[in-house]
Amino acid sequence: MKHSIFDDRESIVRSYCVDAPAIFVGGKGAEIYDGHGRSWIDMMSCAGALNYGHSDPTITAAVSDWLTNGGIWQSLDFHTIEKEEFLKELERLILIPRGMNHRVQFCGPTGTNAVEAAMKLARKVTGRAEIAAFTNGFHGMTLGSLSLTGAKAKRAGAGVPLGLVQRLPYDEYFGVGIDTMDLIEQYYNDLSSGFSPPAAFVVETLQGEGGLNLCSSEWLMRLSKLAVRLGSLLIIDDIQAGVGRCGEFFSFEKLGVMPDMICLSKSIGAGFPLSLLLLRPEHDIWSPGEHNGTFRGNNIAFVAATSALRKYWATIDFSSEVHGKAKYLAKRIDEIVKSAPDMIIKAKGRGMF
Ligand code: PLP
Repeated sequence: MKHSIFDDRESIVRSYCVDAPAIFVGGKGAEIYDGHGRSWIDMMSCAGALNYGHSDPTITAAVSDWLTNGGIWQSLDFHTIEKEEFLKELERLILIPRGMNHRVQFCGPTGTNAVEAAMKLARKVTGRAEIAAFTNGFHGMTLGSLSLTGAKAKRAGAGVPLGLVQRLPYDEYFGVGIDTMDLIEQYYNDLSSGFSPPAAFVVETLQGEGGLNLCSSEWLMRLSKLAVRLGSLLIIDDIQAGVGRCGEFFSFEKLGVMPDMICLSKSIGAGFPLSLLLLRPEHDIWSPGEHNGTFRGNNIAFVAATSALRKYWATIDFSSEVHGKAKYLAKRIDEIVKSAPDMIIKAKGRGMF
């Protein structure tokens, strides 16, 4: 077999490309192409970073106009017109309509950095070191977020002990009908269980990397009430399930909870790296620069994100379209499941996730 520059020079830590070694040259909407005339429907959508599809014409125009007109590419966290517009549109189109007074913290541009920020801040707010996370949870690959992540293979790369995390069973972890929230409440009710109230519960409403496990609204509401009772914060990691993947902007919108903190990344930047933490004003007790990073003023991503917010979140059309497509997808997946009863256990997921 012919050797490629990837084989010769790229670290063997690479993963997705091992199973799909095509060289992609472009994408439009839901499709992605290689240079040999082959195209695929991109169901993976960069693990939720391309919820608006490839090379959206409106976002492309906004970014190329901005580049042509000499916008400032990077600006640490100095005020820029790009950041101002993004914040104003996020407030107008997302936060105010949902009754959210959360502030916005810009983090380093990957999802894991928003999780790191959330962990640090929860510990600072509560003065508690331990954080509760769930079986099969995935929250990123840096040491803090990796400590919350369940997967053995990912954790093995840390090279140091990953501690200060209470691992709790996610909804239906022991099978349908076994209520893990009964167990969790018992842990915190029993003074001899070995569990003390954590700084925060960090949870995904739909576990992406962990196997498309869903939690029910009842389960999540009980977790939220437990967090209030224990003086712990509820942090929803909406990095993969948010920004319309499940239909609504936030994956928790129909689940009856309002988290203290929300981690967002992936599609919030409409395909450009952007990561933020939404936090309640009373928890905004950072000292200036206490969680810092060079690329927090990532203006190209602000331009793309603002354009996407205006195009897709000013009306309910996009959300309705996602629900419509999700219904079709569920029907087709159901047909596949029925056609192969010996091979497939069940269809999983929600919305386009
Ligand atoms: N949290 C969740 C739920 C994720 O799915 C991911 C990535 O897949 C992350 C955090 C980490 O994001 P990033 O890979 O951008 O660091």
